[in-house]
Amino acid sequence: MLEGDKGNMLCPACGKDCVKSAEDILASIEYRYMACRDCAPEPGLDKTRPLRDLPEAIERCRSCGRGSLDAVMLDALRILKEAGLRDESDALRSVGSPLIAVGYPLAFPPRLAQKSLIIIGERLDRNAARLMVERVPEIKGVILQKGIPGVRDGHTPPVENELLAGCDMRADVVQSLFGDLVVYKSQSKIHIEFPRQSAPKMKILENLYYQGKLRDVVDGLAGPGTLGLMCALAGAEHVVLNDAWLPAVKNILLNIEVNRKLLGITEIEYTESLEELAPKGCEARLVCRAGGACRIEVYHGDLTRLFSKAEPAELCLIDHFPGSGTSEMQKACRRCKEIVIV
Ligand SMILES: [Zn+2]
Ligand SMILES: [Zn+2]
Repeated sequence: MLEGDKGNMLCPACGKDCVKSAEDILASIEYRYMACRDCAPEPGLDKTRPLRDLPEAIERCRSCGRGSLDAVMLDALRILKEAGLRDESDALRSVGSPLIAVGYPLAFPPRLAQKSLIIIGERLDRNAARLMVERVPEIKGVILQKGIPGVRDGHTPPVENELLAGCDMRADVVQSLFGDLVVYKSQSKIHIEFPRQSAPKMKILENLYYQGKLRDVVDGLAGPGTLGLMCALAGAEHVVLNDAWLPAVKNILLNIEVNRKLLGITEIEYTESLEELAPKGCEARLVCRAGGACRIEVYHGDLTRLFSKAEPAELCLIDHFPGSGTSEMQKACRRCKEIVIV
């Protein structure tokens, strides 16, 4: 992994220094979206009111420079109107979904610093997206939504949303009894799951932990690595992470690097050049090995082929795509001592 200035990792999406280590992010997370004492109150705009009834623009705070979410979405809507993609009858909510660049369960509306918001929506184009990233300082990236990204099963082609402008790398802070992890996602290629939605899965892991079952774990459909890396944080001796979707595997490798200190990882070895692999993997290929407090292996390939290379584990987690069947996968994992569908 290349290191940028000040030891920050270079972002694989934009090549700049927007990826930070987990300990850096966690150290300042409580203040990240807080208003300063000079910030104006929340504008509280009605998200369903047409643009013609909305103010021209909302000023940013003169002390801290941050903007409210309404201020940012209003600027975005005005740019979409200028680009001919919206008109005076469109409302703020027509812009799309705002995703904070570092996801964290917030008890208050966020105050946004520079490059801290990614917008995902429909009826957007490259020109408008470029203007949004250039002119609205808080906007980090703009994604055109086409579906739920990722590999659904062995038969359907993978879906990818389109990054129109800027950078789509965002992180979620995932909280559990074992501690917090920072999980980066190339958001145009990985399905959106807010930290709140991952909480029930953390409960499942916590229960397994109390039963002494988080020792030797396979995270069969690992995505960006949330569950498998959380098992490593919980003290597992051996964790195998697997995914058929290459962008997910790339995120896993980044997340091992980002959480390296928290996970007590002392060495990382890359065994394949990812650039030569197909976006949707079939045969299991070991791409990375990491060692230290936990032995970690990362595979790219279809889960049904994983155990032609990897050893069966005591516990196999299958965090499957919503609405897809798991019988084929369960059959492939039958040599693991226990299978848990998450
Ligand atoms: Zn970036
Ligand atoms: Zn302020």
